[in-house]
Amino acid sequence: MPSIAPAAAGISLFEEKIANDSLEKIRADIGPNCTRCKLHQARKNIVFGVGNPSAELMFVGEGPGADEDLKGEPFVGRAGKLLTQMIEAMGLKRQDVYIANVVKCRPPENRLPEKDEIATCSPYLLRQIGVIQPKVVVCLGACSAQTLLQTTQGISKFRGEFFDFHGSKLMATYHPAYLLRNPPAKADVWKDLQKVMALLGLEVKKRG
Ligand code: URA
Repeated sequence: MPSIAPAAAGISLFEEKIANDSLEKIRADIGPNCTRCKLHQARKNIVFGVGNPSAELMFVGEGPGADEDLKGEPFVGRAGKLLTQMIEAMGLKRQDVYIANVVKCRPPENRLPEKDEIATCSPYLLRQIGVIQPKVVVCLGACSAQTLLQTTQGISKFRGEFFDFHGSKLMATYHPAYLLRNPPAKADVWKDLQKVMALLGLEVKKRG
């Protein structure tokens, strides 16, 4: 397993397991109108997460964009359509997997979530992972990978590698929004997803 440099101040991961935790409980704990961080000021909807609560595969993005904020569902805009295509190329449907983000409210102008926002919101993501207990967590982009792996290293240094993550395997790959700007990187992502498919026992088909 490759070694990665930890972030200076780490978030506490799974330190206190909540008894009988559930996705419903986590959503209720966030509440109907969370104001714990400044992202609440401009958001329209809290984007909790969507998909199969017993998914073997979970995707984690950084935070909702404009389309997601409007709909209250992660990855429904242009990048989301590409993510759906990636899921289908793996032989799965969107409903088979679980999709969530590091922060549940839209950062203004699609900026990256800031440290304090990540620190406030990521415990809910960790609880979601703890409840779902997927076999594999795929981090989409540097924000989610660096948050979950508690590192400041660039994603290109460790993308495509599996890490042990609290009983799951975790792999980082490029964010679909990056692939929209840089289509040649799709080949790298497809290689990464094929490794995930092999680990999940999904048939790896040659692309025609
Ligand atoms: N980008 C993300 O990281 N998450 C979304 O839900 C949408 C776009």
